Amino acid sequence: MNRAPSATAARTPADFKTRVQAVTAVAAQHAASVDSAARFPEEAFAAVKSQRLLGILVPERLGGEGADLAQVADVCYQLAQACASTGMIYAMHQIKTACILRHMRDSQALGRLLRRLCAEQLLLASSTTEGQGGGNVRASEAPVEYRDRRISLERRASVISYGAYADGIVTTARRSSDAAASDQVLVAFLKDDYTLTRLQGWNTLGMRGTCSEGYTLKASGAADQIVPEPYEIIHPQTMVPCAHLLWGSVWAGIAADATARAQGFIRLVVRQSGGQTPPGAPQYTRALASLRTLRGMLASSLRAYQRSMDDPKALASLEFQTMITLTKVEASELAVSIVLSAMRACGLSGYRCDSEFSIERHLRDVLSAPIMINNDRILTNLGSSSLLTPIAASIGD
Ligand SMILES: Cc1cc2nc3c(=O)[nH]c(=O)nc-3n(C[C@H](O)[C@H](O)[C@H](O)COP(=O)(O)OP(=O)(O)OC[C@H]3O[C@@H](n4cnc5c(N)ncnc54)[C@H](O)[C@@H]3O)c2cc1C
Repeated sequence: MNRAPSATAARTPADFKTRVQAVTAVAAQHAASVDSAARFPEEAFAAVKSQRLLGILVPERLGGEGADLAQVADVCYQLAQACASTGMIYAMHQIKTACILRHMRDSQALGRLLRRLCAEQLLLASSTTEGQGGGNVRASEAPVEYRDRRISLERRASVISYGAYADGIVTTARRSSDAAASDQVLVAFLKDDYTLTRLQGWNTLGMRGTCSEGYTLKASGAADQIVPEPYEIIHPQTMVPCAHLLWGSVWAGIAADATARAQGFIRLVVRQSGGQTPPGAPQYTRALASLRTLRGMLASSLRAYQRSMDDPKALASLEFQTMITLTKVEASELAVSIVLSAMRACGLSGYRCDSEFSIERHLRDVLSAPIMINNDRILTNLGSSSLLTPIAASIGD
């Protein structure tokens, strides 16, 4: 049995692996009921907390473990193989943690928040989608209001995944009532700071366990809960790269489990038919090849980001921004096609909802990928700037 680590025990990559495996066992066991009841994966998150995986990205000086983004991406990949909603919730929490961590400068208040996050294993949710704005993250309606050193915010947050189950919400907002919609800040509120009034439910095709309901978020707090750097900086330097890489890792995890099921199905048929492969077998090989491409692309984009992380000029370059943006589009499309191939490989056994080789939940979950910030919105926005992106001159570029 895996023992839960203490807050102070020394940790190694091998230790991470054991701790994540302890969670995936629980997540896999409950994935079907999380999906069918569209309920928060409470068992998996009790395990995530007991394995102290929520603070791994935070440096040791603030009570965390100083894991790098590639390690976090790997946790997302593994969790999503067991339960896509668990993987996505974990990814969203880490994206918000990274935004605070990388842009808090020397904020004492945010330092305290991160210490509490590690010590108490607080789960952070994300609020960017507002009103009828859809995936236009770079515009906010509701402003931060100021009175003395206190702030307040009331926003119609049309989607907040696991809002009702989180210990805090990190939200975008207009800087002030006289600021433009694109002049945004990021604010961290803990549960005692806000109320949520439900606006709409979450009865969706997939990712049902994320419980991404809509709420009126009414929050108040101290002015130093605002992340000091403007969202205009946070968005390209951290929010977009971390979101695209960690979401991509979740979608890759869904695709990997679907491919593993296809492999299991084909092996069984071969065994039972004296060596005959089923007609869908080439689709399995296709899934395997595309999964390799997807993992390779994510690994290469992760390396590129980690190389430039502390270089604002490199992060702002058209080349980097185009690359990281297209990583999301490509990862989401590839993941869908891998899962579809896996389903075709399994034939009726994959199409069934009640077979051990069912790909049904994977397909429903992965179909959220191209619309989680709509790929067409992204491609349209990228349209003219991509014309200026240099086409690689050599194979190694
Ligand atoms: C699994 C999942 C989890 C998510 N979790 C979060 C989260 O935790 N926090 C968060 O902030 N966001 C979350 N989102 C939302 C996501 O970030 C994007 O905002 C969302 O995918 C955009 O989808 P869309 O199709 O509504 O908008 P878009 O495709 O960007 O645009 C749709 C456009 O249609 C218009 N429109 C839409 N509905 C109507 C309507 N009823 N009447 C009139 N006009 C309308 C809107 O004006 C909008 O501009 C999540 C999405 C998914 C799929």
